[in-house]
Amino acid sequence: YENEMKIEFDSRSCNEGFIRVAVSAFMTQLNPTLEEVADVKTAVSEAVTNCIVHAYDGKVEKITVSCHIEGNALCLSVKDTGCGIPDIEKAMEPLFTTRPEMERSGMGFAFMEAFMDEVHVESTPGHGTTVSMRK
Ligand code: ATP
Ligand code: MG
Repeated sequence: YENEMKIEFDSRSCNEGFIRVAVSAFMTQLNPTLEEVADVKTAVSEAVTNCIVHAYDGKVEKITVSCHIEGNALCLSVKDTGCGIPDIEKAMEPLFTTRPEMERSGMGFAFMEAFMDEVHVESTPGHGTTVSMRK
């Protein structure tokens, strides 16, 4: 890759701001528009929140965010080693949530798909989930 970075951090919601800033700082080398930066920040937040809330269910474990540059695109992945997703297709449907009681609206994946050019989810129940995105 032309350039690459990887950050591993605890699944605490206080780290969300820091990881959003780290990813947006990394992508400045692509001379993005403010809108592109905002889109990526939103997508990162949604994916990281999902690790904290769903994958680890509030337990503190590790989340890994990796980014690399491919031509004029940012490739981003958010990885957890949590509970995994049994039915990815269903999980990605707008308004689908397994946590309606926690005021979840089931829109996280829909936002990621709307704001990024590509979203790909790999998951093994009991082992974890990796969300890969491209902008
Ligand atoms: P919102 O994002 O609007 O607060 P949500 O998190 O439930 O609500 P999505 O982000 O679209 O909605 O995720 C849909 C569902 O996919 C979740 O309810 C959860 O069951 C599952 N899911 C998403 N990410 C993960 C993950 N990293 N590990 C395990 N399950 C996940
Ligand atoms: Mg979500």
